[in-house]
Amino acid sequence: MIIVTNQGITGEQWENLCKKLDDWGFQIHVIQGVEKKVIGAVGDKRRVDFHFLENIPGVEKVIPILSPYKLAAKEIKPEGTVVEVGDLKIGGGYFGIIAGPCAVESESQLFETADGLKKAGAKGLRGGAFKPRTSPYSFQGLEEEGLKILSRARERSGLPIVTELMNLTELELVAEYADIIQIGTRNMQNFGLLRAVGRQSKPVLLKRGLAATVEEWLMAAEYIMAEGNTQVILCERGIRTFETATRNTLDLSAIPLIKSMSHLPVVVDPSHGTGKRKLVLPMAKAAVVAGADGLLIEVHPDPANAWSDGEQSLDLPQFQDLITQVAKLAAFEGKII
Ligand code: PEP
Ligand code: MN
Repeated sequence: MIIVTNQGITGEQWENLCKKLDDWGFQIHVIQGVEKKVIGAVGDKRRVDFHFLENIPGVEKVIPILSPYKLAAKEIKPEGTVVEVGDLKIGGGYFGIIAGPCAVESESQLFETADGLKKAGAKGLRGGAFKPRTSPYSFQGLEEEGLKILSRARERSGLPIVTELMNLTELELVAEYADIIQIGTRNMQNFGLLRAVGRQSKPVLLKRGLAATVEEWLMAAEYIMAEGNTQVILCERGIRTFETATRNTLDLSAIPLIKSMSHLPVVVDPSHGTGKRKLVLPMAKAAVVAGADGLLIEVHPDPANAWSDGEQSLDLPQFQDLITQVAKLAAFEGKII
């Protein structure tokens, strides 16, 4: 439930309220609004009488949250969460574009990409150092060396970096380098990993599971938030359906749906969502109009020779064209890019 406090709540009233909630076994999440302090109280609400709670001094109103996800629920923060790292802002009216190669291959590959992305106007740099590959014989990523290259590319370009964490054992290492930690589609329901990224402070980009419903996806975000980290970005990257003409089926209807259910920002990855270069631009444009808060795009300086996902990667001139077209639509939708 959400407890909205009076504007003039005293320190003593606040402490008394928090103590009561604690005694009833509620987990307390304080949300500082513009004028008022709001408490997201998560626990067994059968243990408390709403009318009694509403009459505690300092309390203005109590709103129950009926959905199974609580901290991710729209009611907690109707104005929307903004995730901000340097110049990259996602959510709450800001549209953030993150781009880069599927995998970090070498310093020259990443530097060339980062330079081109920066020039085109991207605000974040993506690149995998630990790659979740379907085959154990495929390139698995440069691992720590890849993270070091990413951090040198950040120094050079000023772009914050987004990179995937696959295993709990690599959390400390990845968190040391990343500005935003990506949890991939295959790990969306790895609850131990979700809890662990919830206990650290870097924002998390949570991709939708291959076969996850919207509610399961929001419950995965809830796992992260329940541990204290509320900086979560959802990423729609397509789901598995009977259709094989595209790599996945990009579910753009999930965007306006989530916007009505949650305050968390949603970005769209049309690269993994379609698996086809020629579909990336039209689906990126459709994502803006559907209400997305940003994009995650695979870009490679030489897609034909990319070590992974070349067939869905744009080259730099194609990315420049995408950003020009998307910027016009974002402005039309009243978003700040
Ligand atoms: C990626 O973004 O590089 C990736 C592997 O994505 P996904 O987890 O969506 O397949
Ligand atoms: Mn990829």
